[in-house]
Amino acid sequence: MELIVARNREDLVKARHTGTVALVPTMGALHEGHRSLIRQARVRADQVVVSVFVNPLQFSPNEDFSRYPRTFDADLDVCRAEGVDVVFHPSAEDMYAPDRQVSVSAGQMGQVVEGAFRPGHFDGMLTVVLKLFHLVQPDLAVFGQKDAQQLALIRRMVADLDLPIEILGAPTVREPDGLALSSRNRYLSDDDRRVALALSRALRTGAAELTPARIRQAARAVLDEAGPALEVDYLALVDPATFAEVSEDYSGMAVLAVAAKAGSTRLIDNVTLTLNPA
Ligand code: AMP
Repeated sequence: MELIVARNREDLVKARHTGTVALVPTMGALHEGHRSLIRQARVRADQVVVSVFVNPLQFSPNEDFSRYPRTFDADLDVCRAEGVDVVFHPSAEDMYAPDRQVSVSAGQMGQVVEGAFRPGHFDGMLTVVLKLFHLVQPDLAVFGQKDAQQLALIRRMVADLDLPIEILGAPTVREPDGLALSSRNRYLSDDDRRVALALSRALRTGAAELTPARIRQAARAVLDEAGPALEVDYLALVDPATFAEVSEDYSGMAVLAVAAKAGSTRLIDNVTLTLNPA
């Protein structure tokens, strides 16, 4: 089957099959992490739609919207190789009318951890994801655990707004040395990349401990070893459903999450662990 490039709702309607549809939302610059999401979608649905859209709403003015990598031709090759049916690639003008008024609020959960450092980011992310859901009308959508708070907020939006869409979370794909794949990794110099390895190392070291205090301490020590070349925004051990910090007697699944700048590139990573297993 020929890959279809859809620019708007009309194109999407024309391309629609009768079977089940899976959506994989991305901002492009596709890598192995995106590919693993596409493969999950491929095995679960008759038709796979990948959206490629760098969403201006989720970047604040001091962030990297204009220099975010845009590699659409290479993205099409990846999608062809992965058997994607439709690539949805709208323009910002088509997505956002100049007089638009209504958007989605991520609520309190959008203002903590990553949200505390990126005001408005999760509102912008949820707004575009809700629009993509309405435009593509998928039966299921696949998101990476790499963006754990994003995935949790999408699950909340689906529950709170009664969206008839199944959400699949996919594990984080890493380089052999532990670095989580990210479209932003291409900005890293060799030195930055070495420094950036402290993120995954800190998470692994923390996850080997058993109590919240020791987990935080062990992970923090690894980040500190990296010195001033690594500018840490946060290290957080949180309840995956709310992203509230867990207390010392918490039991159940928890997410150990980190965000830091290596050089001028801001990276995030996380691992899931279980505290006080019964
Ligand atoms: P992005 O293009 O960075 O907005 O990411 C699009 C989707 O791919 C999101 O659901 C991300 O969580 C997911 N993703 C990004 N990096 C990875 C990775 N290394 N492993 C798995 N999924 C990822």
